[in-house]
Amino acid sequence: DTYFDIKKIRTDFPILQQKVNGKPLVYFDNAATTQKPQQVIDAINKYYEGYNANIHRGLHSLAEKATTAFEETRLTFQKFINAAESEEVIFTKGTTDSINLVATAYGRKFIKASDEILISGMEHHSNIVPWQMLCEEKGAKLKVIPVDEKGEISLDDVKSLINKNTKIVSVVFASNSLGTVNPVKEIGQLAHKFGAVMMIDGAQAASHCKVDVQDLDCDFFATSGHKMYGPTGSGILYGKREILEKMNPYQGGGEMIKDVSFEKTTYNDIPYKFEAGTPNIADIVALKSAVEYINQLGKENIVQYENDITAHAHKRLAEVPGIHFYGTATNKVSVVSFTIDNVHPYDVGMMLDAKGIAVRTGHHCTQPLMDHYGIDGTIRASFSVYNTKEEIDFLADSLKDIVAKFS
Ligand code: PMP
Repeated sequence: DTYFDIKKIRTDFPILQQKVNGKPLVYFDNAATTQKPQQVIDAINKYYEGYNANIHRGLHSLAEKATTAFEETRLTFQKFINAAESEEVIFTKGTTDSINLVATAYGRKFIKASDEILISGMEHHSNIVPWQMLCEEKGAKLKVIPVDEKGEISLDDVKSLINKNTKIVSVVFASNSLGTVNPVKEIGQLAHKFGAVMMIDGAQAASHCKVDVQDLDCDFFATSGHKMYGPTGSGILYGKREILEKMNPYQGGGEMIKDVSFEKTTYNDIPYKFEAGTPNIADIVALKSAVEYINQLGKENIVQYENDITAHAHKRLAEVPGIHFYGTATNKVSVVSFTIDNVHPYDVGMMLDAKGIAVRTGHHCTQPLMDHYGIDGTIRASFSVYNTKEEIDFLADSLKDIVAKFS
């Protein structure tokens, strides 16, 4: 793998150097959260050691330095997703927070009884529950694009479900449970044809897929820092200016206001209108280092490397007796979900952990998707830039051992 210096990349991640249960850590739970490179850890420390101060209002030097660093992340993220303007990038706690922001600040204002909201059958709970809550409040209807056996959705199904009552379409870019990459651009075009807004859940996509919000022409895009080598509790919501401007605020408090009196409050301009209170400054500052880390490796290189090791995983894991894969879409990110006949996913997870291998077992916050397949959950191995084919071979061999023990 000449285009990727995997040895060097692995040394960037201090956590990978440790042993778990006496074995070298093999971290395959990247769809839950990725590990953090030294650059991101250093950025958090540097902030607290050198220029911790509250942002935007302070005139003193530390406050100015903190404000500049905070706003630099916004500019870096703007470029990262190719937003037209930096004001279209709002800082949040993460994808869940971003979707709740839209459901509250857009949904409460614009959704009425008999309106429809369209999502897919492979959504994370965070792209289901906020819409359900909104529908309950407004008497609106939640509709669901079905998932087929391969773990894909079809544009024909979208066409048959969308109509003039559809006001919001919100679909996951890449599924955290199956890896499927959905045709979100084409779905967005259909949404716009009927006057609906298009939201993309980009939590699993941001570090694994090319993201260009202007090319996708989405109205909203949400993602989480912690799934792209950045800190937990940091994320963004992208929204088109003209839509953000006509939305209500999300939360009320400091920073989101222009003028406050007991009679009337006027709101700040975007993005600050949606950033009430003291934000997670340290982690948002460090999020810039995560974006730079991805940029340095190069998105195209990442995609190529991850596709390569994921194909290797499918090939090697297919050798495991009694294995069933969930999510065999042609276009997918580095997530491999499976069950094994006669062995409970939980037992597999425990036995792999004894070998130092971290996988996720269960429903992966996609219970309706598991219901669709008639299972409680899967075993999920999800890969990142620091994973290797050797680690995947070790997983395949370990799974064969486990099956042998159970038969
Ligand atoms: N959507 C998808 C596809 C996800 O993978 C996740 C996180 N696993 C979320 C939404 C929720 O993100 P967070 O927990 O960071 O808010």
